[in-house]
Amino acid sequence: MTGVPGVDPVVVVGAGHAGFHVALFLRDEGFEAPIVLVDGLGGSPVQRPPLSKAMLLGDTEPRLEFRKPEFYPARDITLLHDTVTRIDRDRRLVRLGSGKALGYRELVLATGCRARETTVPGSGRTGIHVLRTPDDARAIRDALDRAGDVVVAGGGFIGLEVAAAARHRDCAVTVVESLPQVMRRVVSADVSDHFHALHEARGVRVLTGTTVQAFDGDVRVREVVLSDGTRLRADVVVLGIGVDPDVGLARECGLAVSDGVEVDTMLRTSDPSISAIGDCASFPTGDGGRRRLESVQNATDQARVAAARIAGRTTAFDAVPWFWTEQFSAKLQIAGLLPDRRTETETVRVGEDEGAFSVLHFHRERLMAVESVNRPVDHVAARRLLAKGGPLRPDDARIPRFRLSDAAAIQTG
Ligand code: FAD
Repeated sequence: MTGVPGVDPVVVVGAGHAGFHVALFLRDEGFEAPIVLVDGLGGSPVQRPPLSKAMLLGDTEPRLEFRKPEFYPARDITLLHDTVTRIDRDRRLVRLGSGKALGYRELVLATGCRARETTVPGSGRTGIHVLRTPDDARAIRDALDRAGDVVVAGGGFIGLEVAAAARHRDCAVTVVESLPQVMRRVVSADVSDHFHALHEARGVRVLTGTTVQAFDGDVRVREVVLSDGTRLRADVVVLGIGVDPDVGLARECGLAVSDGVEVDTMLRTSDPSISAIGDCASFPTGDGGRRRLESVQNATDQARVAAARIAGRTTAFDAVPWFWTEQFSAKLQIAGLLPDRRTETETVRVGEDEGAFSVLHFHRERLMAVESVNRPVDHVAARRLLAKGGPLRPDDARIPRFRLSDAAAIQTG
């Protein structure tokens, strides 16, 4: 089979956050040509954030599906439970695991990321989990219910969310983080300290500056051996050591790939009939660099831009990034990107309450990012301010009784 541009569908590889939304937004744009959404996971496409939160905390399963199964035929979106194994750019078609081929007029890569595994000695033992899919989450929840001692390798967002859920399920929990502070790749030292203290106050043991060197036991893992020689008892281990973008298809068909599939501001890859969006896409930052983000906001906003372009409306991707995590009683929301640690920054902390505060980050007197702990009003205001690029200065934020929401109201009308 060969592709026939104009008749063939828009094919979307991956029905995660980015893939589902590009199909939805294409229809919202009034796009009438066929759309095929291909994903190896069975069932209706699902969101992932609840997998490390409600799914592990509760005893009943939260709703994960973006939409009920009848949504897809109703919007004339073909959902294909298959795997794309190869892209033939010359003939404009994709090969599927089932042996079929599918022509495309436009191809959208929304292949996301894979959870990073470890190869340290003993990593083949059972009881060692990663968390990316609903089945992973179900397996972890069942394992936590039977476990006494749990070791979480990696003190990032997902690792700490799992640690909080494991405490909630009455496990003895140790978090092992290689950096000197938890979540330090994405949050400031101040916020990191706050969450470290919160975990310890809730009974989680947090070990920083050390790494997992081996897993000991029999068929099952029984102990985790750390680089400083410490041995930790473990009935269950959860790896939260990061993810890698799923770029295999793109690389094999010769698209430009670095830390992700390289795209321009319109999310086109080095082949203009192929777009890449979401966790797998590396986009230009405007200062000559590139960045790849792992968040539902990024996936949704990039899906919106790609859908508009495919439907014939041109917009560029320049959304303000935002992220969140929930651990115990604390909800952290981040608007904007924290400046690189080598960049000279000024920070201002607002909010007197120990459990509810925001940290404002400025570079050259310009607001770059705001971290809000249990201050959702600040977060909303920060997103408005950052979108407008208003002239808020550090000294403005130091004025007694300063409120971000007032500043946003004044500066953004
Ligand atoms: P994904 O959602 O990973 O979807 C990619 C899809 O592509 C997958 O379904 C995969 O099966 C499919 N696929 C890959 N290759 C092929 C192929 N060759 N053929 C067919 N199908 C293929 N983000 C937040 O902003 N806030 C949170 O609180 C948050 N919590 C999270 C908690 C967990 C446990 C996880 C795992 C992620 C969390 N994230 C969170 C991140 C967020 O879920 C991702 O950024 C988002 O899902 C990215 O969407 P995506 O479509 O790019 O990738």
